[in-house]
Amino acid sequence: MDKIRADVIVIGAGAAGLRAAIEAASMNQKLKIALISKVYPMRSHTVSAEGGAAAVIKEYDNLESHAYDTVKGSDFLADQDAVEAFVSRAPMELKNLEKWGLPWARDEQGRMAARAFGGMSVKRTFFAADKTGFYILHTLFQRSILYENIERFDEWFVTSLIVENNRFKGLTAIDIKNGTFHYFEGKAAIICTGGIGQLYKTTSNGAINTGDGMALAYRVGAPLKDMEFVQFHPTGLPGKGLLITEAARGEGGYLLNNQNERFMKRYAPEKLELAARDVVSRAIFNEIKEGRGFKGKYGDYIGLDIRHLGKDVIDKKLPTVKEMAEKYAGVNPYNELIPVRPTMHYMMGGVHTNKEAETPIAGLYAAGEAACVSINGANRLGSNSLTECLVFGSIAGYNAARFALEHDYLEVSKEEVTREENRIFDGLIKKENGIPPSDILYELKDIMEEKVGILRNGKDLEEALSSIMKLKERFKQVSVTDKSKTYNTDFIQILELDFMLDVAETITYAALKRKESRGAHYRVDFPKRDDEHFLVHQLVYKSEYEPRIELLPVVITKWKPTERKY
Ligand SMILES: Cc1cc2nc3c(=O)[nH]c(=O)nc-3n(C[C@H](O)[C@H](O)[C@H](O)COP(=O)(O)OP(=O)(O)OC[C@H]3O[C@@H](n4cnc5c(N)ncnc54)[C@H](O)[C@@H]3O)c2cc1C
Repeated sequence: MDKIRADVIVIGAGAAGLRAAIEAASMNQKLKIALISKVYPMRSHTVSAEGGAAAVIKEYDNLESHAYDTVKGSDFLADQDAVEAFVSRAPMELKNLEKWGLPWARDEQGRMAARAFGGMSVKRTFFAADKTGFYILHTLFQRSILYENIERFDEWFVTSLIVENNRFKGLTAIDIKNGTFHYFEGKAAIICTGGIGQLYKTTSNGAINTGDGMALAYRVGAPLKDMEFVQFHPTGLPGKGLLITEAARGEGGYLLNNQNERFMKRYAPEKLELAARDVVSRAIFNEIKEGRGFKGKYGDYIGLDIRHLGKDVIDKKLPTVKEMAEKYAGVNPYNELIPVRPTMHYMMGGVHTNKEAETPIAGLYAAGEAACVSINGANRLGSNSLTECLVFGSIAGYNAARFALEHDYLEVSKEEVTREENRIFDGLIKKENGIPPSDILYELKDIMEEKVGILRNGKDLEEALSSIMKLKERFKQVSVTDKSKTYNTDFIQILELDFMLDVAETITYAALKRKESRGAHYRVDFPKRDDEHFLVHQLVYKSEYEPRIELLPVVITKWKPTERKY
């Protein structure tokens, strides 16, 4: 078995991972950085981000306004010190990308152009057509190649972290290309493994978003935070849930029900379609429930109207929206409504970190969608996530590099590695005639969609939790038919399913315990926000039987919680 050593190990090569690796590598050229990704970096989910990235760059804007919009969007659950740190660093990160070659869209004067986005009180979302994620990822990837001290492990899958006395010391990974098993010793590691959209039947997320990093950290004792907050984006295409970006509404598109009514005026009289996502998603859900949706082969839907924007705006600013509407919904958006309904989109919760991107385990950091700082609280504003990946990716990279300079390697023992090797190769891959993993996966997605979705209640959550526990038991019986070592994706999917079951349990458990409605977490049995009891983060820890919850106060600096209206 092969041992690899690196000062800093970055797990994940999306926006957060690449940004972290660049920062760590440039901080000290002598540090060796290992960048591990289960897919080729350009296939990370960041590539599909469309709408843009938020920051205060325009002269009409200010940091206070970006911070307040974020705090209000979070339904006052975000930590305000973290939000202030985030907004003040955001402009530098976007300008940096420009220096590294990102072709931001321009206004008539040739300056970076900004567009409107939900919950943002002024235009502060910077974009490159509606392919912003592609350009961000491309720019970061190209930049990362300049650093000779970054060594890439593309198509390697991390299976476990190794921690001793609350200090990170290594991890195990499989090289997917040939199925070989390896272990790494590292002084520090950064989890940048993205979200977990695949837990739901309808999602805008790529197939790789299976929450691996959240489960990896949870299993070695790091708590997960704000897990009950799962964001549904208002405008997914019916069926699989592919995303029609919020930029379509940012550019002036609006929503119509089957009475040809612009119904958002009843739910958010001021902001209409540009209210926060949880508000718009619930409004659509409600219109459909009350029979005001259009009938379609994938269930009822609402119409997104961009016809009035005209061919020029659509072609120039929303080419992906047009392409998706034509290819995947069979409509021509120049003169037809685009069918939409909410789709699972983003995970507000994740590995608990402070604003230095440190987890409670020494030497272990997290950033991007896998982490929870928390700047998003109960609901993230669109276009804050790409910026969050950059800001906290760079903070994590710097701090992990500093930690590596101040500490030595700890030795990983042969037994620790063999135990994991046996779990995987003897326990999982050799088993014959078991249950196909897809049986469990589809059942899990159904449970999450129906019982842990947009509207929740105690009874459904209890049922969901007990079903997930049963699925975890049944998981012990799964087996793969394909036993080959080369690109055995069936086998990798079993490992991902194992991670997803753990994370599903934490989401459902935290949702059950939060007996109030806040942001994306809506309890029909507790429809009001309850600041007296629940203005707190829930930290979920793994324990022997059911998860254990600890409460953490929300950091409030300037903005007292008030009723949230749009
Ligand atoms: C369709 C879509 C559109 C979006 N549009 C916007 C937008 O316009 N603006 C905005 O701000 N946000 C947007 N978001 C959200 C935002 O894009 C994501 O939150 C962000 O890109 C996540 O980046 P990340 O670096 O955290 O993770 P990702 O880009 O998801 O990368 C995860 C990385 O982790 C690696 N990985 C995972 N597990 C393992 C493992 N076990 N072993 C090894 N490697 C592993 C993967 O290979 C990958 O490289 C959008 C999201 C979606 C799905």
